[in-house]
Amino acid sequence: MLAAFVSSGGNMGQAKQRGTIEQRIAQAQAKIEATRPEKLVCNGCGADVTTIHPVSTRGLTGVESIWLGQCDCGQTTFAASGKPEAVQAFFDALGSDTELTLGSQSRDGSQHETS
Ligand SMILES: [Zn+2]
Repeated sequence: MLAAFVSSGGNMGQAKQRGTIEQRIAQAQAKIEATRPEKLVCNGCGADVTTIHPVSTRGLTGVESIWLGQCDCGQTTFAASGKPEAVQAFFDALGSDTELTLGSQSRDGSQHETS
């Protein structure tokens, strides 16, 4: 994947330009980290999954963040936040392609149900 950054305003300072991009990336990551669930509840065995990784939402309009948790039992649990219809569309797309069990839970994992 090739990413192109276009600067405007005649700022030719390479180091400063790189810093700006790094700041933007850091801000974007901080925004994503703010939505990180405390834990995911495994849809397979109900165990707490605390090893959670962010997944790119590139191309998924309306989806703020997607989290993937890999349980010790082998099940993969996804959590997504954003506009409800966009999140639903994401899970619909997942469900048609895989044999994942999908569920919903609150951010702290206290309320959990599988669909
Ligand atoms: Zn499990």
